[in-house]
Amino acid sequence: MTLLRSFVSSANNAETDFPLNNLPYGVFSTDGGPARCGTAIGDQILDLTACEAAGLIAYGGTLQTGDWCAFMALGRDAWAELRSWLQTNLAEGGNTALAAHLVPQSGAALHMPFRVSEFTDFYASRHHATNVGTMFRGAENALPPNWLHIPIGYNGRASSVVVSGTQITRPHGQLKGPNDDAPRFGPSQRFDIELELGAIVGQPSNRPISVAEADANIFGYVLLNDWSARDIQAWEYQPLGPFQAKATATTISPWIVTSAALQPFRTSTPDREVPLLEYLLEPGPMLYDIALSVGLTPSGGSEHIIARTNYSEMYYSSAQQLAHHTTSGCPMRVGDLLGSGTISGPERHNRGALLELSWGGKEPLTLPDGATRSFIEDGDTLTLYGHAQAEDHRIGFGSCAGQVLPART
Ligand code: CA
Repeated sequence: MTLLRSFVSSANNAETDFPLNNLPYGVFSTDGGPARCGTAIGDQILDLTACEAAGLIAYGGTLQTGDWCAFMALGRDAWAELRSWLQTNLAEGGNTALAAHLVPQSGAALHMPFRVSEFTDFYASRHHATNVGTMFRGAENALPPNWLHIPIGYNGRASSVVVSGTQITRPHGQLKGPNDDAPRFGPSQRFDIELELGAIVGQPSNRPISVAEADANIFGYVLLNDWSARDIQAWEYQPLGPFQAKATATTISPWIVTSAALQPFRTSTPDREVPLLEYLLEPGPMLYDIALSVGLTPSGGSEHIIARTNYSEMYYSSAQQLAHHTTSGCPMRVGDLLGSGTISGPERHNRGALLELSWGGKEPLTLPDGATRSFIEDGDTLTLYGHAQAEDHRIGFGSCAGQVLPART
């Protein structure tokens, strides 16, 4: 796949996250005005609310809602048709009258791109599960006995999902270290990130669906940071799993990169140590080759990249997770968000959480200015980045950032 050239010149730059090949969907506003649907193209946003209001496209008013759920509900034919119209009309020599509906990204505020119906988070990176299991339970019991058979997940909180740029207040909770006689209540001392990809369900289902059907129902993906309080988690998690440790906030990137844009970057899950049950077998490559990184910016300081990894490291794909989610008959809705689970690779610098990077605080990271980090300090900004790299262009996700504020007093 080579670069598709656009009359928007900034979209033809090999470094842009948003060439004509990408066309991610988001929600934006200018000057405090109403939320509008748009697509990113180079350093601009094409105002699709305006395009629909002008009669250039017609999707039943779904693009007037300031939310992509109504459009997603229209189904796959509408998804393909809008993408095709955009790639034709924004092309070099296309419909330059659309320039009237371009808005510079630099002057726009970005909002939640869709209303999250429900949020489920998984635990699907073998390296992450092995590292965390080793720290919490010892190397011999690192991987739970079910892990190689089931895409493990838990039901999270849709209410806590926020868009990039939202400040995050350090949570309070019940804390009890291994040497403490009793728990105490206080601000988390081990507040952390989780580098994940979020899959967005674009079509409903109310019966068990196959992996192929699940893959077809995923509208697109966002970067996802599942903020996690490790000290709260370690005390509360048995036997029902994470609860308040994961309920403070989950940040997503503002642009939905569609499954359609990622097709050239499909790649397979790794070889299976034990065969999966038949309902989890994949009809083809279900992961994507997406390079991911994490930047840490201390208050008043400059950014340092603390981790680099790739979505192709996952043991289970989002399609497998979604298919497994429906086995019970669990209905899935448009706007359901599925977190991949923390994405870690085999090397130390591939680890997608500070818990792993600092090995539970035993091996702190050293930043370029000499400061050290085991976990997040007040004022730190954590930013996720991601892109799929082609020879002459990239399909980028933009960034997913949040600054951590001190706990409320
Ligand atoms: Ca998580």
